Amino acid sequence: MIDGGEAIRKLALNLARYSGLAPLARPFVGGIGAILMLHRVTAAPEKPNSVNRHLNIAPAFLDRLIADMKGQGYAFVSLDEAIERIRTGGKGGQFATITADDAYRDNMTEALPVLEKHGAPITIYVAPGLIDGAADLWWDVIEDIVDTRSRLTLNAANGTTVVDCSTPGRKAQAVARLNAWLTLEVPEEEQRAALRDLARSNGFEFGSGRPCTLMNWDELRTVSTHPLVTIGSHTVNHRNLKRLSEADARHEIEDVRRILAEKLGGEPHHLAYPYGYASAVGRREVGFARDAGYVSAVTTRHGVLRAEHAGFLHALPRISVNGRYQSVSHLRTMLSGITTPLANAGKMVVTV
Ligand SMILES: [Zn+2]
Repeated sequence: MIDGGEAIRKLALNLARYSGLAPLARPFVGGIGAILMLHRVTAAPEKPNSVNRHLNIAPAFLDRLIADMKGQGYAFVSLDEAIERIRTGGKGGQFATITADDAYRDNMTEALPVLEKHGAPITIYVAPGLIDGAADLWWDVIEDIVDTRSRLTLNAANGTTVVDCSTPGRKAQAVARLNAWLTLEVPEEEQRAALRDLARSNGFEFGSGRPCTLMNWDELRTVSTHPLVTIGSHTVNHRNLKRLSEADARHEIEDVRRILAEKLGGEPHHLAYPYGYASAVGRREVGFARDAGYVSAVTTRHGVLRAEHAGFLHALPRISVNGRYQSVSHLRTMLSGITTPLANAGKMVVTV
């Protein structure tokens, strides 16, 4: 899960403004390819008005996007091949590879048929803790609590406060407040207990099982044998690695390889850092991923790929394909490369 943060929100506002310039800029700022990032792909989201709705796109949009990119000359390749193409400086023409974080079931039921139609490979990054229910999809839980309450009490470090959730606008503010509390104030190791305390103190029934929107192990075993699918690591428990000790962060990055090999029969070679933004992954974590033997690792930083990324295979940026801008022309603008320096303080080669 990610929320792209302020830079990406500004980017979204500016996309239309830059769309006319994109074709002109492409020869100067265009890259050798792009790693597309998806989360959910469904035509029937359970909560269409959800504040997390930006994490979802419609399968019909994915279909249009791939068709448009193919028309522009992009080859859709596996992540292994994308890495090879980066290593060779992009020889062979512009390429794209599709990735999806968290292993939502709709990746299999709704995205895969579209990908089959286009012969487009996908890498699905799996966090075993989320699949087992040992870790929470806390952003969904917070949203559910806020959705079903008009006010709630929050036992924060500086005392108990009442949070107003009485209107749609207040609900959005409440979700932002609770997200900040859980990800910034509560220590990473205590997140789970804090979320349960929030639910309990507001009379919210917290399901005891695993998140039902994610694939289970049987489904993952099935999907992992599909010729278009690569399984990647999303760490053991989907924690913010920067907030963990070195030992815990290394455990999250390394042990997931063994767990996925045991569960799915093959060791993953590619990693996606949870959250992937600047406050969740930096140079230390990139070093851990390299030490663990991964071939590549991706962030959620915004950017196209450039030949220079051959030297930064464990800090690769992606282009988010999300509900905020389900428009082929917006994606064309982002893929032109023009938004890469705009979202990264002028940097053309985005790493960490
Ligand atoms: Zn994730």
